[in-house]
Amino acid sequence: MASPLVAPLSAPSVPSPLPPGNNHLSPHDIVTYFRCPQEMEIHRRQRESWRSGRPLGGILGAPGPGLLRSPLPPPPLDHLVVFQGRLDVFSGDTLIYEDPDERNLPILFPPAQNHAHAFLHDHAPLLHDPAWDLAGRPDLVIRRRDGSLVPVEYKETHLWERYHEVHGRVFDVIQALAECRLVEATWQVRPRMGIVYYGDTQGDGTREGWMEIPYGDRERGWLEHALTQIRKDPERRPVPSDHTCPTCEVNRDGLCPSAKFRYEGLRGAGPRPGAYGIPPWRGPGRFPSS
Ligand code: SF4
Repeated sequence: MASPLVAPLSAPSVPSPLPPGNNHLSPHDIVTYFRCPQEMEIHRRQRESWRSGRPLGGILGAPGPGLLRSPLPPPPLDHLVVFQGRLDVFSGDTLIYEDPDERNLPILFPPAQNHAHAFLHDHAPLLHDPAWDLAGRPDLVIRRRDGSLVPVEYKETHLWERYHEVHGRVFDVIQALAECRLVEATWQVRPRMGIVYYGDTQGDGTREGWMEIPYGDRERGWLEHALTQIRKDPERRPVPSDHTCPTCEVNRDGLCPSAKFRYEGLRGAGPRPGAYGIPPWRGPGRFPSS
């Protein structure tokens, strides 16, 4: 039975409208597929329903039992480098892209080194890689003085606290790799690395830092494999776990019939009452059911 349209509690993570008929994947899709393929599938359908105004129809969730682990192996993680402090920006660096819809990005460059408006004058803010049919928006793209390009994903949190204890660095690494590919496809320059910059805005700034993620042949190969795996997976089965279900947005919105743990929220928010008529919480778990 078709369910009534209920807008997500927050805007989807990829706010640009998808061109009609385009089925491209986003960095966010890869991250959610890695967490739980069913989360990605429901989230995509939820987003499309929200954008189009059409009700969310059909059966939500794959038939059969859930998987014990993600069908996607983790990306290479052995050459990450983590730094404490404010992200290094030098006098010869320029900002060549900035997501115009991100309101809380840090101002790292003086106006003379900010050339992002030139790109956005001629291009849509959504970067699209037609070869791999990947689309998304890094927060920033920096051109270093040696000509190399670096996408930067900005997080308001700190690397080692709260949100990232739950979600883990691996999700940020996946996002950074996908953004490297978008930069490579857009500017025809292969980045050596992507950066995830943690601003620690909720703290006192003393735990600010960033992570450099190499984008070599191994990482690029992993990304290509991930996109192939997602596209060839017709089932997108759930991976219920105490790591993912308590922070899963489709669980929060009461859309997952396979949720094994109740939605806890990132900062202790309770579950949203059962939208769509599907209980947001079924079965036993770490926390006593209400
Ligand atoms: S609630 Fe759990 S099983 Fe359901 S989509 Fe989210 S992570 Fe997957």
